[in-house]
Amino acid sequence: MSGLIQLAYFGVAVVFILGLKAMSSPVTARKGIVWAGYAMIAATLVTFYTPGMQNYGLMITAIVLGGGIAWWSGRVVKMTDMPQMVAIYNGMGGGAAAAIAALEFARGGTHGVAGTTLAVLGALIGSVAFSGSCIAFAKLQGIMTKAWRLPAQNMVNLGLAALAVLLGLGIVVVETPPSALVIAFFVVALALGAILTSPIGGADMPVVISLLNAFTGLAVGLEGYVLGNPALIVAGIVVGASGTLLTQLMAKAMNRPIRNIIFTPITGEAAGGGEAIEGSMKELSALDAASVMRYASKVIIVPGYGMAVAGAQHKVWEMAQLLEEGGVEVVFAIHPVAGRMPGHMNVLLAEAGVPYDKIFDLEEINADFPQADVALVIGANDVVNPVARTDKSSPIYGMPILNVDMAHNVIVVKRGQGAGYSGIENALFFRDNCRMLYGSAQQIIGEVITHVKALEV
Ligand code: NAP
Repeated sequence: MSGLIQLAYFGVAVVFILGLKAMSSPVTARKGIVWAGYAMIAATLVTFYTPGMQNYGLMITAIVLGGGIAWWSGRVVKMTDMPQMVAIYNGMGGGAAAAIAALEFARGGTHGVAGTTLAVLGALIGSVAFSGSCIAFAKLQGIMTKAWRLPAQNMVNLGLAALAVLLGLGIVVVETPPSALVIAFFVVALALGAILTSPIGGADMPVVISLLNAFTGLAVGLEGYVLGNPALIVAGIVVGASGTLLTQLMAKAMNRPIRNIIFTPITGEAAGGGEAIEGSMKELSALDAASVMRYASKVIIVPGYGMAVAGAQHKVWEMAQLLEEGGVEVVFAIHPVAGRMPGHMNVLLAEAGVPYDKIFDLEEINADFPQADVALVIGANDVVNPVARTDKSSPIYGMPILNVDMAHNVIVVKRGQGAGYSGIENALFFRDNCRMLYGSAQQIIGEVITHVKALEV
C-alpha cells in the first residue's frame, strides 16, 4: 500500500511540474493551470488513503472551507487586486508550514537532531513568509499606507534574525522544548517578517511577494521532509525554485539587486532630485489622436497599469482592429514589469482576444520604435520613462525601458499629472514629439474609436 501511495505522489508531482512548465507559454498556460489544479486535487485524495490518516472530518471541513473561500475570492477579486490576493494566499502557505512545525515541537523528540533542525528552519522561514505577506497584503490593499522604517532598520533585522536562530537552536538542543521557548521563537520570527517588509513599498512590493512566495515553498518543502510527505516536498521545492527564479527575473527587469530591494527600498513616496526636466506637456484631442493613428503606417501600443485599472483592454483591441482594417500595422509592446505583476499585461490582452503574434517583449520590439509613426502609451509611466537611461540619480536609473520616445509621435493616455508607481516625474511627457490625451483609458479610447469610425466614412 505504502509503495502505491509513494508512486501516486510521484505521478501527481510529475503532472504538477508539467502543468507549471505549460504555464511558461501563453498558448498552453490555461492547460497548465488546469493540470496543476488536478494534480493538487489528486494529491489531496491520495492523502486520504495514506496509512495512519485519521481525522477525516477535520480534513474534509478544512478542504470545504479553504476550497470555498478560494473559489469565491477567485471569482470576485478584480484583476488589479490580484497581487494582494497572491500575497495573502502565499502568507497562508507559510503560516501552514509554521503551524505544522509548531505541532511537531509540541509532540517533542520524535525527529532527531536533523529532523528538528529542518522543522525549525521551516518554521522560521514560514513565519517570516506569513507575517511579511500579511504586511504586503495590508500595503497593497491600502490598509497600511505609510512605509514604516525603524532607525537602524538593518541592525534591527540582523538582531532579530540572530535571536530567532538562537531560540531555534534551543528548540533543537532541548528534546521536548518548553512552550515558553517555542512561543518566544515564533514571536521573534513573526516580528522579523513584519519588520523586514514594513519599509518596502511602491515599485518593489511585487518582487518582495515573489521572494516571500519562494520562502513559503522552501518552508513547505522542509516541513514535507519532517512529515515524510513526498507531495509536500516536491510542491514546496518547485514553488521555492520557481519563486526564486521569478524574483531574480523581476529584480533584473527593474535593474534592482535583491539586496537593495530589502535593505535600501524605494519607499513609494515621491523620490525627488534628479535632472531638471525641460519643456512642457502638450495636450491633444481624441479626434486628433484618431487622425494621427488612422493615417499612420505603424502604431505600437504600450499598455501599463492604467489600462488594467480602467479595464480598457477590450476597447484598446477594438480600436487596434479598426486601425488594422484601415491598413495600419498595429502591434503591442509589453514591458516585463508593466502593471503590478509579471505577465499582467499579457493576461489582459489575451483576455481581450489579442493574438499572441501581435504581442512583443521589450527585447523583441525596442529596435522598432524609430520606425513607428505612433507609439500609443496607455496608462504606462515608469516603464517608458527615459530618465532610466540618462539620469544616474534617478531611483529607476538602469531599468530597461521601452524606447517609445524614439517613435515619430508619442501619444500618452492618462487621467492627469499622476506619477507612476515609483513616484517620479516622467521626462517623456515633456518631449517635443509627445502629446497627452487626458482621460480614463476606457472612456477616452472609446472616444478615439468613435472618431476613427467617422474618419472611415
Ligand atoms: P505606472 O508607472 O504605475 O503608471 C501608471 C500610470 O497609469 C499612472 O501614471 C497613472 O497616471 C495612469 N493611470 C491610472 N489610472 C488610469 C486610468 N484609469 N486611465 C488611464 N491612465 C491611468 O505603471 P507602469 O508603467 O505599468 O509601471 C509599473 C510599475 O510597477 C513600475 O514602477 C514597476 O517597476 C512596478 N513593478 C511592477 C511589477 C510587475 O511585476 N509588473 C513588479 C515590480 C514592480 P494618472 O494618475 O495621471 O492617470
